[in-house]
Amino acid sequence: MAKNSGNKAIINKGDRREGEDLYRVLFENVHDGIYQSSPDGKIITANPALVKMLGYSDEEELKRLNIGKDIYVTPSARDGFTSDLSRTGRLKDVELILRKKNGEEIIVLENSHAVVNDNGELLYYEGTLTDITERKIAEEALRESEERYHTLLETLQDGLSLFDMSGRIKYFNQQKKRMLGYDSDEELMKVSTFDMIHPDDQKNLKKIMEELVSNGSIRDKELRVLRKDGTWFWADFSATLIYDRNGLPAFIMDTLKDISVRRKSEEQLKMLKESIDSHYDSAYWMDSSNRFIYVNNAGCRETGYSLDELLGQHVSLLNPSATDENMDRVWKYIRENGSGTGESVHRRKDGSLFPVEIVTTYVNFKGREYSCGFARDITERKKFLADITAAKEKAEESDRLKTAFLHNISHEIRTPMNAIVGFTSLLEASDLSEETRKQYIDIVYQSSNQLLSIISDIVDISNIETGHVRISENEFSINSVIDTLYDQYRLYARETGIRLGYTKGLEGDAAVIHADETKVVQILTNLLNNAFKFTTRGSVDFGYTLKGKTDIEFFVRDTGIGITPEYEQRIFDRFYQVDNSPEKKTEGTGLGLSICKSYVEMMGGKIWLSTKKDSGSEFFFSIPYKKISGKDTVTKKKLVRTSLKIPAGKKILVSEDDDLSYRLMEELLTKHGATVLRASDGREAINAVDNNPDIDLIFMDIKLPLVDGYSAVSEIRKKNVKVPVVAISAYTGDVEKEKAISGGFNGYISKPVSVKNLLRTVKDFLV
Ligand code: ADP
Repeated sequence: MAKNSGNKAIINKGDRREGEDLYRVLFENVHDGIYQSSPDGKIITANPALVKMLGYSDEEELKRLNIGKDIYVTPSARDGFTSDLSRTGRLKDVELILRKKNGEEIIVLENSHAVVNDNGELLYYEGTLTDITERKIAEEALRESEERYHTLLETLQDGLSLFDMSGRIKYFNQQKKRMLGYDSDEELMKVSTFDMIHPDDQKNLKKIMEELVSNGSIRDKELRVLRKDGTWFWADFSATLIYDRNGLPAFIMDTLKDISVRRKSEEQLKMLKESIDSHYDSAYWMDSSNRFIYVNNAGCRETGYSLDELLGQHVSLLNPSATDENMDRVWKYIRENGSGTGESVHRRKDGSLFPVEIVTTYVNFKGREYSCGFARDITERKKFLADITAAKEKAEESDRLKTAFLHNISHEIRTPMNAIVGFTSLLEASDLSEETRKQYIDIVYQSSNQLLSIISDIVDISNIETGHVRISENEFSINSVIDTLYDQYRLYARETGIRLGYTKGLEGDAAVIHADETKVVQILTNLLNNAFKFTTRGSVDFGYTLKGKTDIEFFVRDTGIGITPEYEQRIFDRFYQVDNSPEKKTEGTGLGLSICKSYVEMMGGKIWLSTKKDSGSEFFFSIPYKKISGKDTVTKKKLVRTSLKIPAGKKILVSEDDDLSYRLMEELLTKHGATVLRASDGREAINAVDNNPDIDLIFMDIKLPLVDGYSAVSEIRKKNVKVPVVAISAYTGDVEKEKAISGGFNGYISKPVSVKNLLRTVKDFLV
């Protein structure tokens, strides 16, 4: 064997035998391949390990090969190898790729040197070959996997880092650097991971770290992370704890996901959901099989179902008419037009139905079809529409009635006027018998009353409409009212052959009540007039009963033509008459019942009727029973019927500018024994009082020339004159009356002045 001398091996001829044995053992048993090769590329010696390494059967086979050509994968590499060796004498750990006998390639590590003789001439090469193929593959695999991981970490969308328990960063990927807005790695390395968390989330971070330490990992924690420039973003933070050999936490590996956009869209979604949930209208989302996929709060509230009860249900649960067949038409329409509006009826859980207006929108989301319907309860709107339609119809009806009324009224006025004018002119004839004259006067008188009643009705209704009617209560006996009315209608009943009956529900003092007597009488009169007007045979009964101790219920019953039920409510409308054609047989203005209704309601009662066509009518009205003490002497005194006579020697001043009105007053008063003075204007009235301190009573027209009635009465009061002054007015409203009383007048009498009224008023002040 050769031995090294300096750089080159030298053959040592001493102790060769012993050495040779040792070397042989080693040579044959080592794992590495050992060889000697000739400069011309032949193997001189090869140990078994090398033979095996190269996959040959024995050394001899190897020796026949040309190293460069048969063993080197790249033959030229052998030239490089020999030239390097001859230059340096030794090669250390050179990697070579060799081909095995079966063609497989192996990587070897070669250590070799050139062996020269004493003259320095190259004898052969000698060296070892270590098969490092496996190691290389493993190294390569490791390198590749490292590279793969590195690439993977770098291609991650998430920021990733490794830091120790104090927050010092050991590793981070570039994405993390980018996320945090750092330019250089060094800069980021200096920042503690914990300092990167927003101050407001530090408390939260502490909790998260505790959880991490106790569980070994945490997932999807939301934190605000600070960028280098101080701005922040929402991040999803997950981390795993890495332990050291002693099982103590050493590092934390974390991933950060920027969820600002997600948070924003989540918030937007939340906001959208919130707005839809708190939306006034009901919102229903349906899939293409017409089943609910979402219903907002209003939808649940309106229908009485919970969301769970509605999800997955077919739309027909809420909308009975929404069969699949009908829905197909809706789908077709919204598919073509984008959306559609319509009205339908929805059903609540309790079965009740309500009208809705629905705007349905077509939604195509990720290739799937949905519909989104906004439904609004339109019960109120429907009601409102029905109300205005009714109001419109009512206005039209009222208009029609007014026209009919005007037509009617002209007839109603002309008839009595005709009689008045006609019979007054007949009265002029001198050859009239006393009886005929009396008959004519009666006709004129009745016609005037008829005319007056028409005008009163018109004035009453206008007073009601303008709010000029007041309830003025006094104490009176209902029984007296019944008696008086019976007296009034008895004669008429006898003449027409109709039987008249009455009922008094209370006796004596129990029948004395506190109410607006004038209005009660007016209502009963109206009802009695109608009863006689619409009855040709049979009977009319009227009266009252006490109902439940709280109400007096009056009734007027007849056996006349009756009213069909459809008109029962309408006859209380202004101007309404069941048969209002101009050819109708009965007369009237259609105002009476409307006035009665208003008065009854003002008194806190109600009015109604029970009737059958052809079998008569029965009108009822109730008023509260306000009883007063029967021992009240004032009441009793008032109820005593007194004769209407003016006490002797009374001087009465009549302030009236209209000659005819004065003449009438003068006639009536002087006929009943009074002395009458006249004042034609307010000034004269004041002077008359000055000049006649013995005046007992003054009747004063409110509308007077120069000084009006109000001013005149206040002038008179200034003179401290106590004489009673009664206002005369063409206005009949209660408000006018109130105004006069508060304006200094002691009483009020409206035109036309009837004898009865006038005498009653005089009596009130001159007893
Ligand atoms: P008028 O009697 O002036 O027409 P009302 O308001 O008193 O006006 O009555 C309205 C309508 O009600 C009458 O025109 C008549 O058609 C009907 N009516 C009132 N009372 C009776 C009744 N007792 N019997 C039948 N119909 C009646």
